[in-house]
Amino acid sequence: NARKTIKSSIVFFSKELSIEANRQLSLESALRGSLAQGKLEVFYQPQVCLRRMKLKGFEALARWPDPNEGYISPADFIPIAEKTGLIIDLGTWVLDESCRQAKQWAQEGLPFDYVSVNVSPVQIWQPNFERIVEASLQRYHLPPSYLCLEITENVFIGHDEARMMEVLRKLRDLGVLLSLDDFGTGYSSLSYLNRLPFSQLKIDRAFVTGAHLDPGKEKLLRGMVNLGQTLGLKVITEGTEVIGEISLARQINCDGVQGFYYSRPVPACDIPDVIARINALPALVPARGNETVR
Ligand code: C2E
Ligand code: MG
Ligand code: MG
Ligand code: MG
Repeated sequence: NARKTIKSSIVFFSKELSIEANRQLSLESALRGSLAQGKLEVFYQPQVCLRRMKLKGFEALARWPDPNEGYISPADFIPIAEKTGLIIDLGTWVLDESCRQAKQWAQEGLPFDYVSVNVSPVQIWQPNFERIVEASLQRYHLPPSYLCLEITENVFIGHDEARMMEVLRKLRDLGVLLSLDDFGTGYSSLSYLNRLPFSQLKIDRAFVTGAHLDPGKEKLLRGMVNLGQTLGLKVITEGTEVIGEISLARQINCDGVQGFYYSRPVPACDIPDVIARINALPALVPARGNETVR
């Protein structure tokens, strides 16, 4: 009887597996098709400087429109693209499109410092990744300081620090900014933070959500902000959704916030209005108690 159960669960398991494998295959080919047909989009989410109460920059986020589901989440399709290698073409496209858009906004005189583009570990370990970046900068005559590359800590897995330093140096030599994304969640080594040429640290949403309601979390967040700033990095909080989190970020002198409170990621055409709205906000951030934080 036990044997029978095991046998049938093996059959069940492999059936499940092949359903999952098939689903991935069909998603991958549909994604490849959408990319080739120019059907992917890039949305942009503002980052706000709380000290000046002005827009700092944007994060470019890939969007895959789906006729039935609205948009398929990058959390679903990026991992598949990474597994199949499609992330190379997809990532190159997002980078290029973001540079084109940044140049257009700069020419229109919109006030922003940079556009941040996510870079997958698969992309960065290509032999000539810096050439791909350089090509997009040159194609649109975009000054490199307008481009920031977001890299997660997982990029280090399986590679030594010397190789990583070499790759990041080449990118820094182009004049682009480098940001360490999802800080705190990945394979963190604090010695990297100190030595590698990052200019920005993005604290993962996990450390931000509810930090204003939990003294332990608040201490951790404050410590992370101080650590980053002590090492000379600008520190941004991710997933800053509610006013309490914004006030806390202001109170602990975080350099910038990104999150639904100020804006969800929006299509490029909405950006001029979003900037105008953010830059017209009063300079004071409401405090957590009754007092007002200056
Ligand atoms: P990420 O780089 O950490 O991007 C931030 C994610 O948090 C985005 O999800 C954004 O929409 C979401 N977010 C922003 N503010 C809030 C908030 O206040 N609350 C909550 N709950 N979420 C917030 P999105 O757009 O779904 O992207 C998910 C992840 O997919 C990104 O995480 C990034 O790792 C990856 N991704 C997106 N676009 C690209 C791309 O072009 N290339 C690569 N390699 N990865 C990408
Ligand atoms: Mg990111
Ligand atoms: Mg992130
Ligand atoms: Mg994240």
